[in-house]
Amino acid sequence: MPLQLLSQRLEKIQHDGLYRSLRSVERTTPQVFVEGRQALLFCSNNYLGLAEHPSLAQAAADAALQYGTSSAASRLVSGNQPLHAMLEAKLSAWKGTETALLFNSGYAANTGIIAALAGRGDIIFSDRLNHASIIDGALLSGARLIRYPHNDTQALARLLEQHQADGLRLIVTDGVFSMDGDIAPLQGIADLAEQHRALLMVDDAHAGGVLGHQGRGTVDYCGVTGRVAIQMGTFGKALGSFGAYVACSRLVRDYLINRSRSLIFSTSLPPAVLAASAAAVELVQAEEGQQLRQQLADNSNLLRSLLQQAGYKVPDGCTPIVPVMVGEAEITTRFSTRLLEEGIFVQGIRPPTVPNGTSRLRCTVMASHSPDQIQQAAAAITRIGRELGVL
Ligand SMILES: *Cc1c(COP(=O)(O)O)cnc(C)c1O
Repeated sequence: MPLQLLSQRLEKIQHDGLYRSLRSVERTTPQVFVEGRQALLFCSNNYLGLAEHPSLAQAAADAALQYGTSSAASRLVSGNQPLHAMLEAKLSAWKGTETALLFNSGYAANTGIIAALAGRGDIIFSDRLNHASIIDGALLSGARLIRYPHNDTQALARLLEQHQADGLRLIVTDGVFSMDGDIAPLQGIADLAEQHRALLMVDDAHAGGVLGHQGRGTVDYCGVTGRVAIQMGTFGKALGSFGAYVACSRLVRDYLINRSRSLIFSTSLPPAVLAASAAAVELVQAEEGQQLRQQLADNSNLLRSLLQQAGYKVPDGCTPIVPVMVGEAEITTRFSTRLLEEGIFVQGIRPPTVPNGTSRLRCTVMASHSPDQIQQAAAAITRIGRELGVL
């Protein structure tokens, strides 16, 4: 009986065109094998190509051979190793903050940080298009959650005016929005946070390594250095590794070590991952990182302009996330399937990841794409868009 219920629920998901399944994808390079067939990869977050960079792989291999494969405990028990401190020191130097604190993933960071900072009697103001892990953290916290219209500082100002609290007020926003590729108006939001005495948290999962001087992220890019109390970032995207961090003050770090459940009750990151992340943080600050960012910006511009010329309403921008709006979930799935048949791999993104009626192809470019590969992708997206009546 209980399993039958699950099967009925799954059928409903299928009926709504929202069924998900796993595809086997070999590698993170522009040329990949998807379910055994060759395709060009246009939906990875390996923006700078670091996931297959020899210096990261070498650092990981060396660390595994020297220190073993696991930390074998939470940081608060016996899993706090010198490599954790070494990486945190590199992070705070890069970000220009007092300290940094590692988390096991972006998901674990957002749920762990938000639920530790806020609780009953507190209010969280969250952009409507924030990542699911932020929402989950807010729900877990027990604080009141107020979602403000996307990137709308006037609406946020009104809501801050309306909703006073005796406790803490936390404003949280993605730096770069993961499914749209646009950037939060951090100047305006930082002004509001200061005026209304709210704590400000930015999730920079898609900007670390990509935007700002030496790839420091949206806080640097938007000119609000020193005004964002909690900068969360991840290693699994442009930094080509795995895990996450918060760059913050000593006070916030100390508080999180004492209160954050995803930090306290979870085995810490293993040596190989820490060493690869450290190599990535060094690389994005070096000349090579600058060259890769330039290549990435050129590639992003090329894909945007080719799709715009073809008639797509792709927003201008400078991030590697290029959404092609479709609308209906089912057509989006068909679009993605047809593209793969033509050798272009782009996943369709559907509810609940994005709001109803805004299903899309989320195309992402990498520094490692050649102009020719980008032209091939744009041509296929144009041809199949016409075939499906999307264009
Ligand atoms: C990917 C992502 C996360 C989750 O990070 P993981 O390290 O993959 O768990 C959190 N926030 C945003 C905005 C993301 O895009």
